[in-house]
Amino acid sequence: MDEYDIAVVGGGPIGCFVAEQLASKGRHVAVFEEHSTIGEPVHCAGLVTQRVFDISKCSPTRIVQNKIYGAVIHSPSGSTLTIGGEKVHGLVISRQRFDETLSQNAQTAGAELLTGYKIVSAKKQENHITLTIKQNEQTLPVRCNILIGADGPHSSIRKIFGFPHPIEMLQGIGAELSDTALDPRFVHIFVGHNIAPGFFAWVIPTNMQGTTARIGLCIGKQSNHPLQHYFTALLQQPLLQGTTVMKRFGGAIPLGPLKKTADDHVMIVGDAAAQVKPTSGGGIYPGLLCATQCAIVAEEALQKQQFDGEFLKHYHRKWTKEIGRELSLGMRFRKIFTSLTDEQLVKYLEKLNNKKTIDVINTHGDIDYPSRLALPLIKTSPSLLSLAPAMLKRTKQ
Ligand SMILES: Cc1cc2nc3c(=O)[nH]c(=O)nc-3n(C[C@H](O)[C@H](O)[C@H](O)COP(=O)(O)OP(=O)(O)OC[C@H]3O[C@@H](n4cnc5c(N)ncnc54)[C@H](O)[C@@H]3O)c2cc1C
Repeated sequence: MDEYDIAVVGGGPIGCFVAEQLASKGRHVAVFEEHSTIGEPVHCAGLVTQRVFDISKCSPTRIVQNKIYGAVIHSPSGSTLTIGGEKVHGLVISRQRFDETLSQNAQTAGAELLTGYKIVSAKKQENHITLTIKQNEQTLPVRCNILIGADGPHSSIRKIFGFPHPIEMLQGIGAELSDTALDPRFVHIFVGHNIAPGFFAWVIPTNMQGTTARIGLCIGKQSNHPLQHYFTALLQQPLLQGTTVMKRFGGAIPLGPLKKTADDHVMIVGDAAAQVKPTSGGGIYPGLLCATQCAIVAEEALQKQQFDGEFLKHYHRKWTKEIGRELSLGMRFRKIFTSLTDEQLVKYLEKLNNKKTIDVINTHGDIDYPSRLALPLIKTSPSLLSLAPAMLKRTKQ
């Protein structure tokens, strides 16, 4: 039976990054990925910030496709609010190349990457974990001291070891488009119950000419129609007339930070642990932050040969301290957002559409930390508070 210090389930960005961190400390690490090719299929809009490169130490060359300076928000009434425009707020990446680079970094650090290997079961033994892995028709046993579940939104590791489920699971759909005629510096965001109930739709220019884009939307459980219905409606937006759909994708986004992410010999990280920004669905930055903490605690556990849940809970405390408050506040903002009617959304966006407020958004707006905008915004436009009690009251019902 193969034996590892650490077995990582899932060769997505978070699994590969945590494997790299531990392999670089000289640990015997394996990453098991069920698909035969890293980075495929893609389930992502690929909008991140520079922080993703700062943490992962990846070179942006070949990965960054475009730079985003601002956003045009389309209200349900058809009016628009334009924010940003002066500085770079986001980077559009090729997810496939990003994932490939992280997997190469993990291997260079010494991790074994096993593609085409699916974990079908896992069991706690007295002082280790035994995994059953399926490769083609073969079943192989593997033993490890620590198991890290980085196996995405529908994580089997989360289920097998009885960790809590995410509060919500959004369903997403998207596509790569060509023949667009966009200002490459701006993303477009569409909100409203007819376009993306419970979330929003996006159009992201993916090259510096504005001739290609990645579009998509997510819906929450309060939707009346299937995803395809909203996707067809999005394609009919005047902005997208005459464009060509090249490739479609879909996926799920887990929301609501979990109350428990570590137990005897096991930790879960990334989408498996719903470490995702509830306001935007972005999981790469928070996932990498939490993966850093996961690797630190796994390394300490290996040094001390202490693999019990009490010790591994340090990981839960560390990531919660770092990003837990932001994710919880994100869930509150989301609660408010999903309680708004289209009329309220229109009114809210109108209130924001003045120079003073837009200046505040441009100064304090941060895709990774949306909560940092709340106070300055309310200070500038106290009238925005008038909507809050009504919204909060509605969500309590
Ligand atoms: C429509 C959509 C748009 C998004 N847009 C953005 C965005 O613009 N910016 C952003 O930051 N985030 C975005 N996200 C979220 C982002 O894609 C995720 O947060 C990110 O992929 C999480 O990485 P991960 O490694 O935790 O999980 P994943 O990328 O899901 O990787 C998990 C891996 O585990 C493998 N796996 C699963 N089960 C097993 C098993 N039993 N055995 C072996 N392998 C297994 C899977 O094949 C997969 O490769 C988006 C998500 C969706 C759905």
